Amino acid sequence: MTRGEALPVDVAERVLRLLDEGRYSATYKQAVLVALLDLCLESTERDGSPRDTLTTRQVAEKVVALYWPHTRIWGTEAGGRILVQSASGARAAVERGGGIVAKIRAFREALEQRSPATTTLALAHAAQPAYRRLLDDVEWTLIAMPLPKLQRIGDQNLEWLYRIAWRDAEEGGRAHADKPVPRRGQVAAYQRGAPSDFDNRIHLKPGVATAFARLHSLLRPYILRHWAAQVVRMNRLHDDDVSAFLFEQEREDTRAVRRPLVELQHGRCFYCESRLTADVHVDHFIPWARHPDNGLHNLVAADARCNSAKRDYLASLPHLERWRARSTHAREVLERIAADERWDTGEARMLGVARAIYLSLPDEMPLWVHGKAFEPSDAARLRLALSA
Ligand SMILES: [Zn+2]
Repeated sequence: MTRGEALPVDVAERVLRLLDEGRYSATYKQAVLVALLDLCLESTERDGSPRDTLTTRQVAEKVVALYWPHTRIWGTEAGGRILVQSASGARAAVERGGGIVAKIRAFREALEQRSPATTTLALAHAAQPAYRRLLDDVEWTLIAMPLPKLQRIGDQNLEWLYRIAWRDAEEGGRAHADKPVPRRGQVAAYQRGAPSDFDNRIHLKPGVATAFARLHSLLRPYILRHWAAQVVRMNRLHDDDVSAFLFEQEREDTRAVRRPLVELQHGRCFYCESRLTADVHVDHFIPWARHPDNGLHNLVAADARCNSAKRDYLASLPHLERWRARSTHAREVLERIAADERWDTGEARMLGVARAIYLSLPDEMPLWVHGKAFEPSDAARLRLALSA
């Protein structure tokens, strides 16, 4: 920790305080915060340190992915509807400008008309140029609204978590609370790749990226609960299921890649190498509870015994080494499976996540080996395993 870096507890306190600030009346605040948390975790470098500059484009991609399951129909009967994610006062403004949820929903409907089968996010990525246009739109909305406003408390704009580069450029480095956002034309030019003075970078304040990566598995569920509670209020629901609907849906849906994973592993369990029977489970190598990610590089086939014993534990060094080795030697096979099944590979992302989690473990943390057996973590060997 160098001088001037915020401590993780202080960063956590700021996040909690910003969430409590009632001024913002849509769920964009939660979406942007979760996007920043995830991006910090995923961009962890070889030495375990996260990158502290992100871009508005990266945030836009994350925000679309987060809202994607929210744009399904809630409720099965005739009363099924799209859940509202902004308070009634703000809704008119949001809808006039085409709120993010409405934009994603419109895109999804167009996609479903062409391919009525399950509409996954990977399928959405392939739908060009419409997906790119959606990202352009969402990025613009984020630039115009939540990114400059998220750190407001009362009438003060506190740059607690990040500085926005385009403001610095306009202000010669001085922070200005009420500086107007850049013009749509400036941003559109940048999005086309044309000359533009728009700077898409978001600079995290010293210590924030590290805190986000370290506190990811504490802060993320907290923000999601806050988000779900807001959706319940805005939609006058009584239903606790809304949390599962919004945030858990993607987890189960790994059947499509089960058979190819079994073939890749020559019919053997990833962890114990026993021959797999009919009861094959697709396990998230980095546990879902730590980082919910269905990227193919995070999925392994396991027998019921190992899958239920591993639960949400982190796997031990030998498993981690085999997992890393697989990412390299089976890269082409995994890419082919991803292409065939229209699945996301997530290779770089999962490596970043593994580094963020394993390289910040306290010494001698018990890691899962098999059954009820654990072995203590060894920082030097973990570093070596994740260096390549
Ligand atoms: Zn096994």
